[in-house]
Order: sequence, then structure tokens, then C-alpha cells
Amino acid sequence: MMDNMTKQEIMRWLQCPAGSELDTLQARADKTRHEHVGDAVHLRGLVELSNICSRNCLYCGIRRDNHAVQRYRITLEEIMDCAFKAVEYGFGTLVLQGGEDAGLTAAFIGEVIRRIKTETELAVTLSLGERDPAEWKMWREAGADRYLLRFETSNRALFDRIHPPREGHASTSRIAMLKTLQDIGYETGSGVMIGIPGQRYSDLAEDIQLFADLQLDMIGVGPYIPHPQTPMGNWKDGGMGDEQVPNSLAMGLRVVALARLVCPGANIPSTTALATLDGKAGREMGLCWGANVIMPNLTPLKYRRLYEIYPSKAASTETPEQSRDAALKQIEFLGRSPGRGRGDSLYHLQYK
Ligand code: SAM
Repeated sequence: MMDNMTKQEIMRWLQCPAGSELDTLQARADKTRHEHVGDAVHLRGLVELSNICSRNCLYCGIRRDNHAVQRYRITLEEIMDCAFKAVEYGFGTLVLQGGEDAGLTAAFIGEVIRRIKTETELAVTLSLGERDPAEWKMWREAGADRYLLRFETSNRALFDRIHPPREGHASTSRIAMLKTLQDIGYETGSGVMIGIPGQRYSDLAEDIQLFADLQLDMIGVGPYIPHPQTPMGNWKDGGMGDEQVPNSLAMGLRVVALARLVCPGANIPSTTALATLDGKAGREMGLCWGANVIMPNLTPLKYRRLYEIYPSKAASTETPEQSRDAALKQIEFLGRSPGRGRGDSLYHLQYK
């Protein structure tokens, strides 16, 4: 099932010059995508629940200590409006993402899941950060299907440098958390940022191998985009020269392709961060380099610009209708078709 690539092989793909050799990577990834998950592009409606966050990740625009951010938390009824929109638009999944906000209580999220599950047939994906495993279990029992938690980088020292632990807690292992999520029974997704200052090609190659080792159902990757109101906003590469991974669209596309090759049956979105670097073209390119998922943003417009994890986030002023129309146009342009149904992970359905 998995294409077991060596670390050296992955590093060679990450570093080979643009040109005919790189074209073969794109062609292989696109063929693998076609053979394993087909031509359907699954649409997941994204709802950004809250930009309140108790964490202080050095890279993230909604970190606790960014006092320039006007904070919000969405209401249950607003989430349900998004869910009904997702159904109306023919999407199969609602993705609920947010900061680590204590106000998004276990009971509130449980109620949200129960309402969505009783009133629609949508699959529910949660992306609410590092929470108590008892809460993850409760939400799974309430009907949540999937959980996304990026490990950001497999280089532990780098992760610890950019990701201070919860106050009063020891530093955490997101890899152990992903295994807990799998044990609880979630379709589990993870991923990384590409081009974090201090990230070497060898780190990124290990990240890609870890995607396969973890047997992820979903893999979301995107370039790291500096945010000026964060401590990392003006970090340089730390003098690593040629070893430093660039935070470019081109590198993002290589990682999407390699993720497809090492996890052929995974659901892989063409992410907003890819789209942000080259207007809408980044998203189309992602779909040509192995991705099979798009996540149109359904967050009410009044909140959209407040969820600024990095500057100039793509689609931050688009209405939900415009996000849907843009996604459908891109799918049609590429000669692909919008996915029908929930678009569950093949690994979860068949392989595990
Ligand atoms: N709080 C949850 C978590 O940490 O998993 C979900 C929300 S968090 C904002 C979602 C993702 O945004 C992170 O996993 C991270 O990879 C990405 N992100 C945050 N800041 C970013 C930046 N400056 N550039 C690119 N991606 C960023």
C-alpha cells in the first residue's frame, strides 16, 4: 500500500532542480492520486469557531499574546447555519477548527456535534488542538468522525522552540496524541508547516516518512507564512544556508506529491496556505500535485478576517457562496468532479 521511500530518496526529490526530473515527481503523484482515490475532489466546509487561544505558538497570528487581535467565538446557531449551508452546497463534511479556547467547552462541542449529527448527514471533523483525551473520547461518542492535529515538525527541538507548552504542563508529544486519537477511533489527520526557520531538508524528509509510519488518513501541509505580530515574524533561517527549507509554494507542492506517494490512499487537501502564496493558482496546482480535497470557507464573513493565523490568508473576504463557486470552477477547469458523500478515508474504511 505504502510506497516506502528512503530518507535519501525523499531528500533527493525535495532538492532536485526544477525541470524534467521534477516533472516526473508531479506526474507520478498525479497518477497515484488518480489510481488510489480517483478524480473526485471532496469539498469540506470549514468553520473557524473561535480565535481565542490559550497557547502562545511563536508562529501563529492568533496566539494568546497578540493583543492586536479582536477575539470572537461563534454561537451554536451560527454553526448550524454553516452546517445547513454545507448540506445545501452538496458538501459531505463540516470541519470545525479553532484556537485552544476554554470557552469551547467539552459540553458545548458535544452539543454542536449532536445537533449536526441529528439534523444533517454530514461527517464532522474537529481541529481544536491539544485537548484532554477524555474530551476527545466524549466527542467521538457524540458522533465526531475525524480529528486533525498537525505535528508541525518531527524535529523535537525545533517543535519545542516554536511551541511553548501549556502553562504548568511539561512539553507534549503530538505524535503520542495522534496515536491516542487513532485508538479512540477517529480518522486521524496531521501535517506540517514547510519552511519553518531552522527546518532542514533532512527534517522534512523525516516528516514525510512519519506520515507513512503513522498511517494517517488525512495529510495537510502548507508553507509557513510569517506573521508580523508574532515573535517569529522576522526570524531568519538561522544561518543554515542551503540546508534551510524554503517556505515557498514550489516546496509545498513537492511535499504534497511526496505525501501522496508515501500514503496513496490518504485524503490530502490543497490548503489555504498553498493558495495564499500564489492567489488561487496555488490551490489548483495542489490538486495537480496529488491533492484530492478542498476546504471552502463557510465561516460567517464578520469573523473571517479575525481568524488571521497568517497575513493575506486566501479567501478572507469571500462569501461562503463565492468560496463554493470558486472551488467548483477550479474542479471543472481541471476536468475533475466534485466528490459525492462523506469522502471517508480509504485506510479507515478498508485497510485498517
Ligand atoms: N489550534 C489548533 C491547532 O493548533 O491544531 C487548530 C488551529 S491552528 C491555527 C491550525 C494550523 O494553522 C496549525 O496546525 C498550523 O500549522 C497553521 N498555522 C498557524 N500559523 C501559521 C503560519 N504563520 N503559517 C502557516 N501555517 C500556520
